[in-house]
Amino acid sequence: MKDCLFCKIAGGEIKANCVYENDSVVAFRDINPQAPTHVLVIPRQHVATLNDLTAETGALVSEMFLAAKHIAAQDGIAQSGYRTVMNCNRDAGQSVFHIHLHVLGGRSMDWPPG
Ligand code: 5GP
Ligand code: ZN
Repeated sequence: MKDCLFCKIAGGEIKANCVYENDSVVAFRDINPQAPTHVLVIPRQHVATLNDLTAETGALVSEMFLAAKHIAAQDGIAQSGYRTVMNCNRDAGQSVFHIHLHVLGGRSMDWPPG
C-alpha cells in the first residue's frame, strides 16, 4: 500500500536490519529496541490492524508466529524465553498501521504490561 512504512520496508524501498524473510513475511530489528532482542515480524501483504484480518488473510498470523519461533532460536532466546505482542489501535499504542508481531527477549519482563 502506498504511504505505508512497513509496505516500503517489505518492498525494500526503505532499509531495515532484516533478520528473516520468506514468501509471506519479513522480520527486521525494531529501530527503537525495548529489549536486547526486539524484532518486528510483518506480513508482505498489507493488513492495517488485527480488526482487518479476514478468513483469507488470517493464515498470515500463523506465518508470523512461525517466523517468531525461528527468530527466537536464531537469537538464542528460545529457552530463556521471549514475549510476542501485537498492538491493536489506540489503547494498545499501535503506531504503525500494518500489522506486526513484536518479538522481545534477552531480559526478564514484568507482567502485567504497562
Ligand atoms: P507499534 O507501536 O505500532 O506496536 O510498533 C511500531 C514499532 O515500529 C515501534 O516499536 C517502532 O520503534 C518501530 N518502528 C517505527 N518506525 C520504524 C522504522 O522505520 N524502522 C524500524 N526498524 N522500526 C520502526
Ligand atoms: Zn502496509
